[in-house]
Amino acid sequence: MEIDIAKLQELIDGSDNIVFFGGAGVSTESGIKDFRSVDGLYHMKFKYPPETMLSHSFFVTHKEEFFDFYRDKLLECTCGENPAKPNAAHIALAELEKKGKLKAVITQNIDGLHQAAGSRTVYELHGSVLRNYCQSCHKGFSASYLYKSDGIPKCDACGGDIKPDVVLYEEGLDSDTMNGAIRAIMDADMLIIGGTSLVVYPAAGLIDYYRGKKLVLINYDATARDSVADFSIHGKIGEIFSQIKI
Ligand SMILES: [Zn+2]
Repeated sequence: MEIDIAKLQELIDGSDNIVFFGGAGVSTESGIKDFRSVDGLYHMKFKYPPETMLSHSFFVTHKEEFFDFYRDKLLECTCGENPAKPNAAHIALAELEKKGKLKAVITQNIDGLHQAAGSRTVYELHGSVLRNYCQSCHKGFSASYLYKSDGIPKCDACGGDIKPDVVLYEEGLDSDTMNGAIRAIMDADMLIIGGTSLVVYPAAGLIDYYRGKKLVLINYDATARDSVADFSIHGKIGEIFSQIKI
């Protein structure tokens, strides 16, 4: 592991256009559970699988049940008693950006922790729980407004239904966000991918836009894409980044 850290340090030191692409594993050490992970409590409380409850059609047809699930599974870790905080990986990436070495973070997470750590250029492929809009007048609302509401959250200006700015299953990704992410990856001299098994398409396909020679995978377990990487390192991403000198 020490040799791996030294190698990662050397690659980062020699790069000034780094792009980071991260998945659920980046937030795991902040205490945010991947909602796809199956746990017993979930099965006792909800009748449908997460993919169903977080789909566009379910939002339209079962809005109250959608928000029950959404508050419990997605907002609790942001708005509850112990809100998640950025970990060493979020903080190191924000520091690298401040130093001018990192140009963009692309994330599949919706928790806003990169911005909380100080990152500025963040492409949130799946949106953010921190942004919510009235479907009638487009007024914006905080996550805590939704968390504290009962049933279907309503706009305090016009009474319309509020929808989180989160990309639900069956919905397409925002094209401006995708284009920005693609441009950042095409221009990158180093691409670090962390905390994702790279199975979520089309996000996973972004990797193919990278044209450089420094593709680094950081993951707890080996992934099927290890073979395409120039360098792979296995371990907890926060622990790894906490050892990098910026
Ligand atoms: Zn409204």
